[in-house]
Amino acid sequence: MNLSKGLKMHRIRVKALFDGAEQGQPVKVAGWVKSKRVSKKFAFLVINDGSCQTDLQVIVDSDKECFAKLESIGTGSSVSMFGELRKSPGKGQAWELHASDLEVLGESSSDYPLQKKGHSLEFLREIGHLRGRTNTFGAVYRVRNRLSFLVHQFFQGRGFLWAHTPILTASDCEGAGELFKVTTLDLANPPRNDEGGVDFSNDFFGKPTHLTVSGQLNAESMALSLGDVYTFGPTFRAENSNTTRHLSEFWMIEPEMAFANLRDDMLLAEEFLRYLFANIVNDCGDELEFLGKMYPDCDPQGIENMGSKNFARVSYTDAIKELSAVSSKFEFEPAWGVDLQTEHEKYLTEQVFSGPVIVTDYPKDIKAFYMKSNPDGKTVAAMDVLVPRIGEIIGGSQREDCYDALLDRVNGLDLPVEDLRWYLDLRSYGGCPHAGFGLGFERLVQYVTGMVNIRDVIPFPRAPKVIPF
Ligand code: ATP
Ligand code: MN
Repeated sequence: MNLSKGLKMHRIRVKALFDGAEQGQPVKVAGWVKSKRVSKKFAFLVINDGSCQTDLQVIVDSDKECFAKLESIGTGSSVSMFGELRKSPGKGQAWELHASDLEVLGESSSDYPLQKKGHSLEFLREIGHLRGRTNTFGAVYRVRNRLSFLVHQFFQGRGFLWAHTPILTASDCEGAGELFKVTTLDLANPPRNDEGGVDFSNDFFGKPTHLTVSGQLNAESMALSLGDVYTFGPTFRAENSNTTRHLSEFWMIEPEMAFANLRDDMLLAEEFLRYLFANIVNDCGDELEFLGKMYPDCDPQGIENMGSKNFARVSYTDAIKELSAVSSKFEFEPAWGVDLQTEHEKYLTEQVFSGPVIVTDYPKDIKAFYMKSNPDGKTVAAMDVLVPRIGEIIGGSQREDCYDALLDRVNGLDLPVEDLRWYLDLRSYGGCPHAGFGLGFERLVQYVTGMVNIRDVIPFPRAPKVIPF
């Protein structure tokens, strides 16, 4: 390596630096200053470049020419530095950089909002454009990134194809009332039809259009051509749920398997989650160790253990029996035919099963039209995976593959048959048993990182009245 090149060298990421550190190694790094302490003989800088949890400590001796440049460096400034890596005699870090040259890339105003003292998560939400520089959000975003990678690795390793399903859709079969409309019409003065309603034939697509709430129906078409597929993309729900578990824009992973039934679906869901749990603690050890120390709900050991634990299973009907026996514990009385409330889900997974549990065979009337009817005529082949603290993390089912049964459901629910013609077609032309599920990616990240509020696991959360960045 050419020492004299100094700041003209390629920068190395701090993570790569720590991974392959050698005594005396000449390196150039760049990052943002977290703190600066100057004394007569030398200055200490702590910098982080976002590549890892550990900060880099930098020492600049006062006899170096670049020492004068320290003047303009404040917390939040960006700098690049050249120097020599040495084993650190101090506690708290293994290595330190002895800088011989430095360049201030961007100064930071004195009102930089991130100070050394901890800030509340609420405050950090207000500065979402800068919160990625904190230890907490750096950790959460890196865990999020790695979980995305593990999702792809899991499915690709099993021969599933990543299917890109559309974000714009004209089908509103899934979530009436929860859809964001998409239009190019002039809202102040839309074209009218004879009945005085909006004339959507003049709209961009010639009919009412929305942002998708799920890629599933399209994923089914892909599965019935390619076998096993998964989607991983954004979905949108205009539900007015101001909770710590709901976003208006969230990412969903939806595997769909041809030639598979509910049992296969449950197996896939369980193996999938266990794979993610078993690997993330190893892959993001520093991040989860940090979060584990800071946040009571983050339990890396517990997550790792879950990676080797079988999930419990219970039918909805038995779950209701279990809950009814202790109904005084709940605000909402559990009753057969009514969907489980979050408090019920949490009780089942936290108190009854002390771990993840798969609830199966829900009443037909509380589930979507495409779920396969069970022989009892009252329930459908549905399954939800519940985990402690969060409740539902996965919702899935075997799909109705019988044309007549599906058509009955569509008609019975007054869904627009013509819009669903293509979906019904899939049952006419070589339909087969198939199944899939949806995992809310942010709920997974929440579960792993221990963040209480789902708005803290996506960089720029969208929720009712919340779209600041
Ligand atoms: P919930 O009852 O918790 O509102 P849901 O039954 O409406 O969820 P599904 O339609 O089954 O959810 O969607 C599949 C998965 O997507 C859920 O298991 C959950 O993990 C996630 N999910 C659903 N709605 C949201 C949301 N608004 N924000 C974030 N994740 C969500
Ligand atoms: Mn659900």
